[in-house]
Amino acid sequence: MSMNRMASYGEIMNGLRQSFSSGITRAVTFRLSQLEALAKLVEENEAAIFESLKKDLNKPKFEAEISELSLIRSEINLARNSLNSWMKDEHVSKNLATYFDSAFIRKDPFGVVLIISPWNYPFQLCLIPLVGAIAAGNCAVIKPSEISQNTEKLLADLLPRYLDKNCFAVVCGEAKETSLLLENKFDYIFFTGNPKVGRIIMAAAAKHLTPLTLELGGKNPCFVDDDCDIDNTAKRIVWSKFFNAGQTCLAPDYVLCSEGTRDKLLTALQGTIQAFYGDDPKLSPDLGRIISQRHFQRVCALLTSGKIVTGGQTDETERYIAPTLLTDVKESDPVMQEEIFGPLLPFLTVGDVEEAIRFINQREKPLATYVFSRNSQVVNQFLERTASGGFCANDGLMHTTLMSLPFGGVGESGMGKYHGKFSFDTFSHHRACLLRSSGREKLNEIRYPPYNQSNLGLVLYATESKRKSWCSIQ
Ligand code: NAD
Repeated sequence: MSMNRMASYGEIMNGLRQSFSSGITRAVTFRLSQLEALAKLVEENEAAIFESLKKDLNKPKFEAEISELSLIRSEINLARNSLNSWMKDEHVSKNLATYFDSAFIRKDPFGVVLIISPWNYPFQLCLIPLVGAIAAGNCAVIKPSEISQNTEKLLADLLPRYLDKNCFAVVCGEAKETSLLLENKFDYIFFTGNPKVGRIIMAAAAKHLTPLTLELGGKNPCFVDDDCDIDNTAKRIVWSKFFNAGQTCLAPDYVLCSEGTRDKLLTALQGTIQAFYGDDPKLSPDLGRIISQRHFQRVCALLTSGKIVTGGQTDETERYIAPTLLTDVKESDPVMQEEIFGPLLPFLTVGDVEEAIRFINQREKPLATYVFSRNSQVVNQFLERTASGGFCANDGLMHTTLMSLPFGGVGESGMGKYHGKFSFDTFSHHRACLLRSSGREKLNEIRYPPYNQSNLGLVLYATESKRKSWCSIQ
């Protein structure tokens, strides 16, 4: 069985490799036609996409629109509008030795790339990297998550109907199938998922020296300062935490604040949860569900940490977990040992900003750090003294709406970046090119043997960067 599968993956790879070698994906017209096709796929199948996201995650249409479809449309539109300028050779500065030559960076496609996606935003986390891969002129294998099974089926059905089948393929499967797929040599791997699996993917890539991007998760801290607008802070935290039922890699994972602020914030958060989701959030059409039984059990087990002050209700038949606030949480509690990835928000109290920064820096570098404060000095303290993939002051998630900002982690939360032009650059090899003429040999002779001291002086003069006189430490 697996031999058959291995053979069929090999066949897919051979087909894609042949297409890439033919040069078809390099033409700007081809790239534009495929981006156009992807836009059409989204436009013509909106209802089916909403339905699959509803079945997988009970994703409200509003959330599906702004966090899946709209993001994909924006990425496609930006790529279409900018492709010509992104593809242009980037001419660079030269030294005296290359003064008459042409020096530039050529954005070359890698070849056949692999995109592996998770289940929480199952549509956009497949298609946004794909936009980058197409724009940069690659062939691609797309491996959606098997956990979001309705979206997986839809992608496997739609992508071959819209995109050039000789250049793009969808492979469905679980860990076993993906491991087999990874035995093939790809030219680039783009993985989104959890850090444990990220290590497996990186080890598989290492066998072929394949470069990769790892978009991973982690525990995103959310510091709330004593000097903040409590009501607005509460609204923004509730929205960013309970969006997609907390199953967002960028969701605030836990709150750090003083005891006084905790008590005020808890009251405001309780009021906001009620305002957003009503007296019984289970009846709200605006709250998602946990993706699978396994994840439902995993998140429920974390409810034993600390004290439940709001929420805590669960319903296994619907995989429902109420928006839950937990206090008296200790660092050693289970909820603080892993990325929560569900609608639980634990509170930990700290004495001051220094203690909060220490707490954050003692842990792995997260995907995002959030600080709520009216005091820009406090915000700057966190910005300067902590490290994370991204940073957002006085809101959650919102920095990811800007395609002009790179999206990606650092350390345990990943490596590499994408969105907008960063996606194009990620899927391109930046080839260093120097075009010289075959003449002007007099200028070159100074570097040939037999060597002598005065020629060495000339060579160094023509090639070495000089320190500017104003560049010194005061
Ligand atoms: P996951 O790592 O379990 O799965 C991701 C993909 O990897 C799936 O397609 C899956 O089939 C495949 N996979 C799983 N095990 C494998 C194995 N042993 N070998 C090869 N392939 C394997 O992640 P998930 O549970 O689907 O998603 C949740 C995680 O993803 C969270 O940690 C979250 O923070 C992270 N995430 C990160 C981002 C980001 O952009 N940084 C976005 C969304 C989710």
